[in-house]
Amino acid sequence: MTKLRLAIVGAGPAGIYAADILLKAERNFDVSIDLFDRLPAPYGLVRYGVAPDHPRIKGIVNALRDVLDRGDIRVFGNVNFGTDITLDDLKKHYHAVIFATGAVRDADLDIPGIDLKGSYGAAEFVSWFDGHPDVPRIWPLEAQSIAVIGNGNVALDVSRMLAKHPEDLLSTEIPENVYEGLKASPVTDVHVFGRRGPAQVKFTPLELRELGELNDVDMILYDEDFDYDEASKAAIATNKQVMVIDKVLQKWREREVGTASRRLHLHFYAKPLEVVSDDEGRVAAFRYERTKPDAEGGVVGTGEIREVPVQAIYRAVGYFGSPLEGVPFDKRHGVIPNREGMALKKGSNDVVPGVYATGWIKRGPVGLIGHTKSDAMETIKHVINGESNWWTPVDPTEQGVVDLLDERGVAYTDLDGWHSLDQHEMKLGEPHGRARIKVVPREDMVAISRGESVEA
Ligand SMILES: Cc1cc2nc3c(=O)[nH]c(=O)nc-3n(C[C@H](O)[C@H](O)[C@H](O)COP(=O)(O)OP(=O)(O)OC[C@H]3O[C@@H](n4cnc5c(N)ncnc54)[C@H](O)[C@@H]3O)c2cc1C
Repeated sequence: MTKLRLAIVGAGPAGIYAADILLKAERNFDVSIDLFDRLPAPYGLVRYGVAPDHPRIKGIVNALRDVLDRGDIRVFGNVNFGTDITLDDLKKHYHAVIFATGAVRDADLDIPGIDLKGSYGAAEFVSWFDGHPDVPRIWPLEAQSIAVIGNGNVALDVSRMLAKHPEDLLSTEIPENVYEGLKASPVTDVHVFGRRGPAQVKFTPLELRELGELNDVDMILYDEDFDYDEASKAAIATNKQVMVIDKVLQKWREREVGTASRRLHLHFYAKPLEVVSDDEGRVAAFRYERTKPDAEGGVVGTGEIREVPVQAIYRAVGYFGSPLEGVPFDKRHGVIPNREGMALKKGSNDVVPGVYATGWIKRGPVGLIGHTKSDAMETIKHVINGESNWWTPVDPTEQGVVDLLDERGVAYTDLDGWHSLDQHEMKLGEPHGRARIKVVPREDMVAISRGESVEA
């Protein structure tokens, strides 16, 4: 019987589900799995993307933790593929690798002024409020009026976090620096802009509804956006999700407004044109072209140019994958080119032996956590059936990779280390009646995980 030594790079939901599915799958060989992540803590975007005021979704970590706690997967945190460990290293110690490295950076929005001071990517801000160790601790929340560009759930998360009163986040796991930063924010108005109409948004109803439940925040909608064309009417009549979204928006239109100290404006039919600068190179306004329906569910420009004064702008126009050293990469879509999870050679239909992909790096940054499970099933099917494609490692022992990381002085963290950090964070939360308070600095995360003392 063969034994498959498998490396999985990326301990987000995609990587963990892939490990779980393989271990439970019917197969005629043994498996031993090592799971690597560049961060000292597992769970990827569930920990560092999902908003802190979404405890139900954050709770998915419990299911992921159960998989890790079963004890048949070794975890190596704080190990970056590309620097701490390379593809050649993996070929020496494993029969195959699955990349589950997700998509962690912002997609570009190519308009003039997008690089001005005060213009940010949603991914950076999300990383900040979720306590990601690799972004600065202090976020410049100095704007009274803010534009958020995008009509998907990340735009909703960003605008909700900007508009929400920080006291209403105290029950969540937000780190102390995030609470203090939000408390100092002078924001009064958050403007969300989408290129298309209310019947074409990518929001999901549950997440949209939440906006209207914010304490002391008025929802502001504009009548001009609700003169539906036939395509929009048809979408509302035939698509349940669009119908619910329309209902939510229509209810908000009927609400009395004017008493709240903060406002969240939804602007539709607004195509981004430019971020306007002040004399010091800072964001001063958002300029857009009013669009109108093109009768086919899309929009066309009307030539009418408008400007809204804002002092900060956040683009929430999607995430994008990053290339991995030695692994084919599709620059246009930000993914590893693949057929059902089998990596393909650049510009060809030929499979790269031993290299697989799953999750957002396989499929692109769309879809919910649950979708990474079906993704993983497809990829694992090919791992199981692809024995002839596996590598022939010179040292497949479990000790081999440990020695390699030790030789290189990589301060890796393991599953016991994660348990220590997890418990430490929960203890930090206890006196404040909170489930946890996240530890943010990477060196502290590593030290706590490795049982070393934390520098004061
Ligand atoms: C802001 C935001 C909010 C979201 N909210 C929800 C929600 O409410 N509900 C929902 O169902 N879905 C939500 N999603 C979607 C969900 O997060 C994704 O579907 C899911 O996380 C994708 O899983 P993944 O494992 O492919 O990628 P990720 O979760 O990104 O995991 C990838 C892992 O790979 C690691 N990695 C990357 N590069 C390297 C490297 N070079 N070496 C080692 N490790 C590496 C990363 O550190 C990370 O841990 C949200 C996404 C975002 C961006």
